[in-house]
Amino acid sequence: MSDRISRLSAAIGRAAPKALSLDSIRGRIVVFALLATLIPTGITAWLAYSQTESSRTRQTNQELSSGSSQAARELSIWLKERAYELKIFTGSFQVAENLARMSQVAGRSTQLLEATARLNNYLVSVQERFPNLYDELLVVDSQQTILGTSARTPGQLHLPETWLQTVRGNREAIGDPFWEDQSGHASITMAVPILGALDGRLLGALAARVNLRALEANLTTFPTGETGQVYLVSRTGSLVVSSRGVTRGQAGLGIPQETLASLRRAKASSIRFTNYEGQDVVGSLTALPDLPWAAVAEISREEAFAEIARVRNITLALVFVVLVVVSFIAYRLALLIVRPLDRLTTGARGVGSGDLAVELPKAGGGEVGYLTDVFNVMVARLRAGREELEAIHEDLRTKNEELERLSVTDALTGVSNRRLLMETLRREVQRSGRTDQPFSVLMLDVDGFKAFNDTYGHQAGDAALVMLAAVLRECTRVVDCVARYGGEEFVIMLHETDLASASEVAERIRVAVADRRVPLEGEDAFITVSIGIAQYPGDGGTHEAVLKAADGTLYDAKQQGRNRVVLTTAHPKRRRSRSGSKINP
Ligand code: GH3
Ligand code: MG
Ligand code: MG
Repeated sequence: MSDRISRLSAAIGRAAPKALSLDSIRGRIVVFALLATLIPTGITAWLAYSQTESSRTRQTNQELSSGSSQAARELSIWLKERAYELKIFTGSFQVAENLARMSQVAGRSTQLLEATARLNNYLVSVQERFPNLYDELLVVDSQQTILGTSARTPGQLHLPETWLQTVRGNREAIGDPFWEDQSGHASITMAVPILGALDGRLLGALAARVNLRALEANLTTFPTGETGQVYLVSRTGSLVVSSRGVTRGQAGLGIPQETLASLRRAKASSIRFTNYEGQDVVGSLTALPDLPWAAVAEISREEAFAEIARVRNITLALVFVVLVVVSFIAYRLALLIVRPLDRLTTGARGVGSGDLAVELPKAGGGEVGYLTDVFNVMVARLRAGREELEAIHEDLRTKNEELERLSVTDALTGVSNRRLLMETLRREVQRSGRTDQPFSVLMLDVDGFKAFNDTYGHQAGDAALVMLAAVLRECTRVVDCVARYGGEEFVIMLHETDLASASEVAERIRVAVADRRVPLEGEDAFITVSIGIAQYPGDGGTHEAVLKAADGTLYDAKQQGRNRVVLTTAHPKRRRSRSGSKINP
């Protein structure tokens, strides 16, 4: 039973829930509140974020694709303007006349030189009017032989192989862009036909090395943010001109073919790639309609997605703040709900471990308040039950003591019974053996008691025995043992008493008994006793032997006439007691 209780107590100890574990109500409330907040807030935040992301991506796409297509259109217009300008230059009589003259004076070097000089002068005067636009103006024949030039040292022409066919079709031929090392910028060669004024025959072509840096100003007009740029790339992806300008060091840089192909495939949409400067960018490409060139508008990825990142950060911060606030509120709320429950748990644990002094404070209304009241009543009942049990236990203990006392007491006289006497004698033998102190035993028998009974009645005999026991107690010490040995025989164990002292006590008893009146109504009755004395260890090594010796001396006392004290016969100092007065019967 007690094992079971201790096992249950241990289980109660183990079952006590930890502060914020999922087993505790507090933990569950907090987790529930967090989930209930996190799920809708998370979904809303995710929707808002993805909405912003897609709208921002769409906007970036639109801006970049419109930037690149406008740049492409701008470039086409700019090239048309250059072609138109060149055609106007070819209309000058200086060109037609000097060309005609050159063909007429072929072989005559002086006139040829003069015509060439005039043509050159014309070309120089035109070129000087557009110093930042044309690096060189030249007049060439169909074999690309230079007939006149504005430059002191003619540069190289970079015209496409099919230029002559193009020019013959009365269209401008435009070569691939190339890098002018000397002047440090990109150029193209453009050629327009020079036709005879009368017959429209092809006399040659006016070619120009056009400085593409002049385009930069046109490209800077497109909004490309702080980190963006618009630039042109050649058919191979090489950088030609950029709204940011192209430095000498950047000559030859460009977009790899793979990226170029991806940009072309993306069409109006923008893609993410690494630009010629190694930056992570988002860009869009528009191919020029007539030329194998393309305009690219790009913006750094960071700037493109800055707003998205900002929205994401704000959303995350908002979710975090909401979580912290909700956690705090949930925790406080949980405390409010759980505190009385905690008290109940602690109280129940106390009661479980046996402490019934527990009394919980009032927990207001509601289920927990009701539970607390019930708990207090229960504990009070348990306490009352325990007190009742303790009282019963005390009563039982007293009664047991009484029973114990009665089991070793003679019912009639109240002195020790034979059982207790034997036990006391056994102990005294042991003690005497240890302390080497003798003890004495008196054995008493009422003289002629049968006759007393016959004369006064049995009840009177009982009264005489009660009176005798009282005298025996009066004449002995507390440490001595007075016992009824059986019938009208009594034994007294005199603690640490030698024979001499014992015989004095015996004599005192004998006299006191003889002098005491048996308390009978209207009758004067007396009794006498005979007393035999023996001593331990002188008269025997065991209590039985000592008793036997005392019985022997008692017998002697009877034999010698009763109402007397007799010492053990074995004792050298044995002496006859003084005979008392003979009492009837
Ligand atoms: P003596 O001892 O002097 O030789 O003679 P006696 O008459 O006392 O001898 P005996 O021992 O034969 O008698 C004892 C009597 O004591 C017998 C019995 O009736 C009486 N007796 C024993 N116990 C009680 C008791 O508890 N109450 C009463 N009233 N009498 C008892
Ligand atoms: Mg007797
Ligand atoms: Mg007798």
